[in-house]
Amino acid sequence: MPLGEVLMRKTRLATISTNPSNVKARDKRKKAPSLAKLKKKLWKVFSLYIRRRDNYTCVTCGRKGSGSGIHGGHYIVARACGLDYYFSETNVHAQCYHCNINLSGNSHRYREFMVRQYGEKTLKDLETNYWKPCHWAPEDFEKKIAHYEALI
Ligand SMILES: [Zn+2]
Repeated sequence: MPLGEVLMRKTRLATISTNPSNVKARDKRKKAPSLAKLKKKLWKVFSLYIRRRDNYTCVTCGRKGSGSGIHGGHYIVARACGLDYYFSETNVHAQCYHCNINLSGNSHRYREFMVRQYGEKTLKDLETNYWKPCHWAPEDFEKKIAHYEALI
């Protein structure tokens, strides 16, 4: 391609990208929420569902609480598990602040509860598979958000 043509093309591209009407259109477009925002939104409705399901009663000490005094506590800790487990009804239960935060999940008691509730086999599956990678698209979050919003 002759140099003159290359320069002309570059000029044309520059014109397109700085054209004020294009910039305006880009600004008007609604930005899709980030995955972090979707995760936060889903956690809000999911953890409320979990706390209600468990009647705001800590599964590891039996203490009853209300509102934010009762958390959604992960059996497989949140920092280790992928999204499938982070938002798993089997992996998350109501826990009081003391058990969830001060006792870091009160894991020994939590395990006893899990065995009583689900049996050794389910628990072994949970403990074996938590590291498996999973990918959620924005639509997966949206679907779950709608699902839990309808339940709470
Ligand atoms: Zn507790």
